[in-house]
Amino acid sequence: MYDVVIGLEIHAELKTNTKIFCSCENVFGSKPNTNVCPVCTGMPGALPVINRQAIELCIKAGLVFGCKINKYAVMERKNYFYPDLPKAYQISQMVHPFCIQGGITLSDGKFKALNRIHLEEDAGKLIHMGKSQGTLIDYNRGGTPLIEIVTEPVFENAQEVDEFLKKIREKLVFCGIADCKMEEGGLRVDVNISLKPQGSKTLGTRTEMKNINSFKSVSSAIDFEIERQKEVLNSGLSVKQETRKWDDDLQENYCMRSKEESMDYRYFPDPDILPIIITDDDIERIRKTIPILPEELRKLYIEKYKLSTNDANLLTSDKNISDYYNKCVNLYNNPKKIANWIIVDLFRLNKNKDKKLSELISEGDFIYLIKLVDEQKLTRTNALVCLEKTIETKKSSKTICEELNLISNVDEFAIMEILNKFKVENPKAVEDFKTDSKVMSYIVGYVMKHTQGKANGQLVSKLIKDMFN
Ligand code: ADP
Ligand code: MG
Ligand code: ZN
Repeated sequence: MYDVVIGLEIHAELKTNTKIFCSCENVFGSKPNTNVCPVCTGMPGALPVINRQAIELCIKAGLVFGCKINKYAVMERKNYFYPDLPKAYQISQMVHPFCIQGGITLSDGKFKALNRIHLEEDAGKLIHMGKSQGTLIDYNRGGTPLIEIVTEPVFENAQEVDEFLKKIREKLVFCGIADCKMEEGGLRVDVNISLKPQGSKTLGTRTEMKNINSFKSVSSAIDFEIERQKEVLNSGLSVKQETRKWDDDLQENYCMRSKEESMDYRYFPDPDILPIIITDDDIERIRKTIPILPEELRKLYIEKYKLSTNDANLLTSDKNISDYYNKCVNLYNNPKKIANWIIVDLFRLNKNKDKKLSELISEGDFIYLIKLVDEQKLTRTNALVCLEKTIETKKSSKTICEELNLISNVDEFAIMEILNKFKVENPKAVEDFKTDSKVMSYIVGYVMKHTQGKANGQLVSKLIKDMFN
């Protein structure tokens, strides 16, 4: 029997306006090699100027994950020769990263410790064209800022890793640190795995699988590698320290390079970038940019607002949604009702999730409609008509209600008057009411006809019961 030990290195592309050492835009999807300059293509003599926003987002990530922030940080050169990196070194951090320690607690209460979070630049992207067709290279990604989150070797299986990664991604996205779009390579995971005899204190020899870019593949890659190492050990051989490549199509991995060929990166401080001094004021200023985290919001929604876990999850799935919800609750203290209207109606009207809710309808207009329905001045059906028209025309909900004459001026007395008229006109129906349940809907229909459908259905039913029994 073996204990499984897993450690992760997670790369996330930071959400900055520009690249880390030049003023090229930090965007995805430009025409290859158009979003480049002498700095990010490593031309001789070009000088890097470090992007303040990238430093601040790295520190913000550190604060979100409970790291200690180093007051003295250094950018270092990690030297290697490969065509994705025209300078022949990547500017990264080794001895003095911005953030150390910290961690995340999983749902079973286990704390998973981080080793560090550091800042570095991304390399260009190689596009292998297949046999004998060569390799193309796109330098647009070169010089975009990354954070690397390095964990301690603390995971025992794929499920723990999966939950951890989802928590990391949720927080990075929610706090506006990184978009983590995995299909765009915005979050990439290196997985280190070793096995050791059960209970042993010394770690076994590990292998590493680099740049796995979906959570599903991470899980499959882990399960595969655990089984592979078990087989190696069971047959009396030892695991070789090597980098293995996960092939998602074949669902297996193969050796890419062994330790003997592994690189000596010859780290040293980049002489073009001065050490960076972080003050307490800097840290406090950055801390203030961290919103209430989704976990805490869910707790508030469930415990104080009495929402279901499912609804709380839906409302915290995106910061734009929870911001919208919070603002609505501030305007009208009826959290449960507002949650229903958002989840049932606004989500349906925003099927493609392509718009912010506040772009569909302002919080003020949305609350205006919900309140009118609660005050029984607007039927739910008419409120939905108005909601759709508001989204479609961008006019205010009030204007639309007026234009379409949706708001009811039919109060209790007006309905009672109509019911009295009904009684006089239909003495037989009044008799039948007590025995025939169908008569109820007939009377409701009569009232609706006489109020152009604007009477509140619930109120009408209540009054009929009161007056006819
Ligand atoms: P390197 O930078 O050479 O890959 P590090 O020592 O910085 O090496 O470790 C990188 C990652 O590998 C970390 O996430 C760490 O937790 C993990 N790791 C280190 N040793 C082991 C091991 N024996 N088994 C599993 N994971 C390990
Ligand atoms: Mg590594
Ligand atoms: Zn550039």
